[in-house]
Amino acid sequence: MNHQIVFATNNPNKLKEIRAILGGEFKVLSLSDIQCEEELPETTETLEGNALQKAQYVFDHYGHECFADDTGLEVNFLSGKPGVRSARYAGDNCTADDNMDKLLNELGGTDNRSAQFRTVIAWVNKSGFHLFEGQVEGDISKERKGEGGFGYDPIFIPKGHQISFAEMSGEEKNAISHRKRATEKFIRALKA
Ligand code: IMP
Repeated sequence: MNHQIVFATNNPNKLKEIRAILGGEFKVLSLSDIQCEEELPETTETLEGNALQKAQYVFDHYGHECFADDTGLEVNFLSGKPGVRSARYAGDNCTADDNMDKLLNELGGTDNRSAQFRTVIAWVNKSGFHLFEGQVEGDISKERKGEGGFGYDPIFIPKGHQISFAEMSGEEKNAISHRKRATEKFIRALKA
């Protein structure tokens, strides 16, 4: 296991998932493993910009090859909002429920409810950077359904399905998710 790479996150679920996929070939370090305690900059207006900003920051300040991700829910009726602001759509310190309430209010009774989750992964090493994208299309339901998942899962019905992400098992969601699709592309490049 001689290829070390930092994943610019301290989210234990994301780390566990990527370590399981990468197996013994790569040693994936978290931000705390490299004693990076500060908040990483995420000040751009795009998912691409934010993912790259985080990975580049770690590379520049800590000298480690690094990858970072950023995800957003893009609702077409709202011109792509909440997008890069998905986590804090209803304001600083808001909950997932606050975000869903705001989104459902903004959509009102419209039938134009198409949306996509989009994940961008940025990988930075000494030869430069690469971006990988994964997305899943679907519709925003008129009310919450299901108890599983997190974030906007209770109101997102992926295309070709009748149930929300929150009504699916973790395995079912992960098989089709935006994050899975971006991760697969990244891992293919990393292992090439
Ligand atoms: P992050 O970039 O992975 O931290 O995601 C930003 C925000 O997007 C999260 O705080 C959630 O609100 C939302 N989000 C990201 N991925 C998902 C998902 O798989 N389901 C529901 N919401 C998500």
